[in-house]
Amino acid sequence: MEVEFLNLKRAYSELKKEFDDVWLSTNQDSSYLLGNRLESFEQEFASFLGVRYVLGVANGLDALKLSIKALGISNNWNQSDNQLDEIIVPAHTYIASWLAISDVGAKPVPVDVNITDALIDIDKIEKAITKNTKAIMPVHLYGKACNMEAILDIAKKYNLKIIEDAAQAHGATDKVGNKAGTLGDISAFSFYPGKNLGCFGDGGCIATNDKKLYDVIKQVRNYGSLQKYVHDIAGTNSRLDDLQAGILSVKLKRIDEWNQRRIDIANTYHRELSEINELVLPEIFSTKLNNIHQHVYHVFPIYCNRRDDLQKYLSSQGIGTNIHYPIPIYKQKAYSNSEYKGNSFPVTEKICANTLSLPIGPHLQEEELNYCISKIKDFFGYTTKV
Ligand SMILES: *Cc1c(COP(=O)(O)O)cnc(C)c1O
Repeated sequence: MEVEFLNLKRAYSELKKEFDDVWLSTNQDSSYLLGNRLESFEQEFASFLGVRYVLGVANGLDALKLSIKALGISNNWNQSDNQLDEIIVPAHTYIASWLAISDVGAKPVPVDVNITDALIDIDKIEKAITKNTKAIMPVHLYGKACNMEAILDIAKKYNLKIIEDAAQAHGATDKVGNKAGTLGDISAFSFYPGKNLGCFGDGGCIATNDKKLYDVIKQVRNYGSLQKYVHDIAGTNSRLDDLQAGILSVKLKRIDEWNQRRIDIANTYHRELSEINELVLPEIFSTKLNNIHQHVYHVFPIYCNRRDDLQKYLSSQGIGTNIHYPIPIYKQKAYSNSEYKGNSFPVTEKICANTLSLPIGPHLQEEELNYCISKIKDFFGYTTKV
């Protein structure tokens, strides 16, 4: 049997008629950019999250970059400012979180993560704050929301902004039931095809309750212009296509159901694999979506000392897995000039060496899931009950 790490073709098949209608109607009215479909999706996603404003942009990286600059950090839209502002970011995340910071001319200041959930270690944030620190960027990695209450307390104490990277956490809720991406000053989502809510190409959005941030980004994403050929800000081009927005509206109606399927799969993995001593599984939460503190399992990462052998074995059995992420960002050539060395981030090192992400997604079928479980048990010499 072949089990893809993530099967996107089935997502298309499930809703083919609705997706095809979006394509047809977009071509019929030929409203391709900044049209009604975008506006509707922005309103729908804002009400899904429970925030005042959502603005579609070209991708998740742009959503982060525009958020940072809208907050006035390393902002060169209206002025030249060469001071290196610092933003605190987890050492373990997808590289986009760091790149957004460096790309606007600020400095990413990494903080190690928890071994239990790979999220920023809140107890280590204060030590990383300097006089140049302007913001904290919590990343709701793998689909689990950070403890935002604690992060908000620190931000308040030191007068820092919060930019949430919610690119992997559409619909996740934190400890007190708030959705990821609703508690910071501003937050960024990605609609990359493989995310919990993904479009048919690149896409992203920012979410905020702050009218000023909304107004500035609305202008900036469209060449700094609200009125054609009048430019008040030296902006950029970063728009979410209407076609993608239409696709996202179709998928948004299913996100709760699709996240619930991920949760169900995670619970099955947990039930079936917890007897294997050599594996450490992600913490399990309630079995129902929208309960307090719900993980939405963008990935299901396990830790295993024999990770590479396990991955090879599963691959030989036709099972696709992934590593999120194999090389710490500070060890990438892209950051070879940075002052950060591995021994400052022992937990990140350990996760990169041991983590393996198992197939999970709304379209993973039961027989595929059972096959994955039985092959994992085979590898560790556990017998499968039939
Ligand atoms: C995917 C992702 C991004 C970037 O999103 P793109 O749409 O690919 O630009 C940023 N941060 C995290 C944590 C991500 O997983």
